[in-house]
Amino acid sequence: MEPTPLIDIKASAHGQQPEASVLVIYTGGTVGMAYNKRGELAPMRFDQIRKKMPELRQLNMRISVLSLPEPIDSSNATPQNWLQIAALVAEHYARYDGFVVLHGTDTMAYSAAALSYLLENLGKPVVFTGAQVPLGRIRTDARRNLVTALEIAAARHPRAGTVRVPEVCLFFSDVLIRGTRAKKVESQHFNAFKSENYPPLARAGIELEYHDHLMRLLPGAPLRAHHQLDDRVVVLKLFPGITERVLRTVLELDDLRGCVLETYGSGNAPTAPWFLQALREARERGIQLLNVSQCEEGRVIQGQYETSASFAELGIIGGEDITTEAAITKLMFVLGLGRDAVTTARLLGQDLRGEISLGQPVAPGIRF
Ligand code: ASP
Repeated sequence: MEPTPLIDIKASAHGQQPEASVLVIYTGGTVGMAYNKRGELAPMRFDQIRKKMPELRQLNMRISVLSLPEPIDSSNATPQNWLQIAALVAEHYARYDGFVVLHGTDTMAYSAAALSYLLENLGKPVVFTGAQVPLGRIRTDARRNLVTALEIAAARHPRAGTVRVPEVCLFFSDVLIRGTRAKKVESQHFNAFKSENYPPLARAGIELEYHDHLMRLLPGAPLRAHHQLDDRVVVLKLFPGITERVLRTVLELDDLRGCVLETYGSGNAPTAPWFLQALREARERGIQLLNVSQCEEGRVIQGQYETSASFAELGIIGGEDITTEAAITKLMFVLGLGRDAVTTARLLGQDLRGEISLGQPVAPGIRF
């Protein structure tokens, strides 16, 4: 199904020439939900949202909006939705200074990570945001999140005039987080997202405080939007007591091409022969195994302990400090490139979109 036609919310303020133009892509989520007859929150169409935020007209920017054909609760998001959003950004890239994606919070971190991979050489902001309380409610957080996300999408360096945030990122509550570093950590309060293993790109207080030195550099090549994701992947979280039957049931799934193995601590796992044998056989069947830690902070260091000593020899890729959200979407993206096994493994192990920090913390002294 086609997205809805573009609606221009406003062309200029007080007859001024608008300073920037931003395209809002509405996908659904609590931000645009209302109670249905059964008393459950369900997505509504964007035209209703537009009426609820007349203050958008006060911003000195041209704002256009389009909506996915069927707005969704983000728990229903699929790789197809990510490809659709990436295609919309690519289609409208030349005509806008920045993009805001209105999205449900539940899987926003996955979507932001997926879009980070799909939009190679991105030179403009793509800012995901949403809300914990629907726009129609008096205590909503949607207004502030959306207005700030729009400001970020239009932001330029005060002196140089160049794009300030050439990244896929996520703005929520008061932090701007790189798309590949976000994690939803709170379901009841407003500060729903955390930036994992990397400081926030900006903080919103009275002023919007950008941490310019943490941003990715402007690309030297034109945008390249990718159109393939391979969904023959799985996340397997280890737990004490996992049995050979469970492990094999997952790793021997028909067609499986990749698995994010959520291990303990710095990338550790059982050393039982049946465990290692099942991993070895999976590797022999060509399945890519990406080792990601269950810890929120720190990194995978294969070989630091005996319990991960054989991983490198088995061809298991250490995910360093990547999040699970960024890892599973990376696996879909890299497998979707359809490269040979050696190149696939190399790409999985290297930093593609700021999802891995190499070496020491990037900016000591900046609050996480
Ligand atoms: N279930 C909602 C969604 O992710 C939650 C939210 O938007 O906050 O679409």
